[in-house]
Amino acid sequence: MDHLTDGARLPSPRGATEPYGPCVLLKHGEVVLKGRNRQRFVQRLEDNLRVALRGIGGSTWIRTPHTITVLGGQVPVADLVARARTVVGFSSVEPALRVPSTLESVEANALAVLREACAGRTGTGFAVRVRRRDKGFALTSTQLERHLGAFLQPRIDGLRVDLTAPDVTLTVEIEHRETYVSAERHPGLTGLPVGSSGRALVLLSGGYDSPVAAHRAMRRGLACDFVHFSGAPYTNPSSVYKAYALARELNRYQPPGELHVVSLGKAQKQLAVAGAGRLQVVAQRRLMVRTACALAGATGAQALVTGDSLGQVASQTLANLAAVDQAATLPVLRPLIGWEKQEIIDQARALGTAEISVLPDEDCCSLLAPPQVSTGARLGQLRAVEKRLDLDEVVEALLANVQVMRPGQEDEPAPVADAGCSVPS
Ligand code: ATP
Ligand code: MG
Repeated sequence: MDHLTDGARLPSPRGATEPYGPCVLLKHGEVVLKGRNRQRFVQRLEDNLRVALRGIGGSTWIRTPHTITVLGGQVPVADLVARARTVVGFSSVEPALRVPSTLESVEANALAVLREACAGRTGTGFAVRVRRRDKGFALTSTQLERHLGAFLQPRIDGLRVDLTAPDVTLTVEIEHRETYVSAERHPGLTGLPVGSSGRALVLLSGGYDSPVAAHRAMRRGLACDFVHFSGAPYTNPSSVYKAYALARELNRYQPPGELHVVSLGKAQKQLAVAGAGRLQVVAQRRLMVRTACALAGATGAQALVTGDSLGQVASQTLANLAAVDQAATLPVLRPLIGWEKQEIIDQARALGTAEISVLPDEDCCSLLAPPQVSTGARLGQLRAVEKRLDLDEVVEALLANVQVMRPGQEDEPAPVADAGCSVPS
């Protein structure tokens, strides 16, 4: 939105420091429902927005007068919109013009905004919606809607009023000193600001499910770190590259979390040697959860998150999930428990993780997988197998060799890929 009328070029409203001109309106989602704690949530929204704007290439400003956050700066509005759309907690993201709250300025800028929105269309149906927070403005909302409708309609060729199914809705929000005019609205990532519900550790494999689960956890306010178990030293590092690329993609939606990589191969062999047999996969999952709970102390996580969906594969029967829970000292959250595979894949595509998940890898779970996985693991049998190992020692050894990475942070070089697999850029 480059077109500005004279009014919009004025330096700044009296008593405020932000200039008139292009900006972005960010309407708050669920945060508006918060009572006494609302300010804490709003602060978190602003902090996360600031992190999302890092490296955007120019100065920016953020202001939250009430249930809308206003974002502006010395960068193209399209760039601000793109960044704001990755921040969890806003119900909509609207490029807008911030103009003086006078009738002349509102008329002129409404015309400029509508002209741009109608460019390239013919016979555009339009509606004007006014919201007046400053009751001192000369006209009521309804009066101004009618006034602007009558003012705009003859000034743009082929424009017609359509209040039931408009092609373009011009929104005018009148504040005390400034007014926001916009004709474009993008859906935001509704939910609770990341971090407002605490921290979690996501068990991130290379498949479709766990990245989607991580995103759902973030949407409920959980800041996420990630742990990936590779089959090293018996597998190539392709699954690690995938986990890194997935974590980097997921970190676009939150203040970046760490990726911890655990080489599980030797411990998997120990379980096999201990006679896990058909219980191998569930025993591995229990070991993963045990190790993740121990790791959570270091990352500050209060819960684990997995991509399990009930009954999707043999290891995800109710009995097997319950057996895994028994090995955890923290709550195991499973945001996808009731999702179908197709819903998960659709969501992964929308998120941008599907194209990484689809890449081939050498997964630790296929290493030593029995021909038939037990669907009803008994705790007694699992414990008997585990007793043949010193589990505390095994977990300690796994944690002693954890590799910590910070995907998506500027000072972190991506792992070097070998010929077999490359990290998508
Ligand atoms: P995904 O698509 O997430 O790989 P899946 O359908 O392949 O899931 P499983 O392989 O049974 O299902 O894994 C169930 C969950 O266990 C995963 O969503 C993930 O949270 C966790 N998990 C499995 N393998 C690993 C691994 N190698 N590293 C970390 N977590 C894992
Ligand atoms: Mg998997």
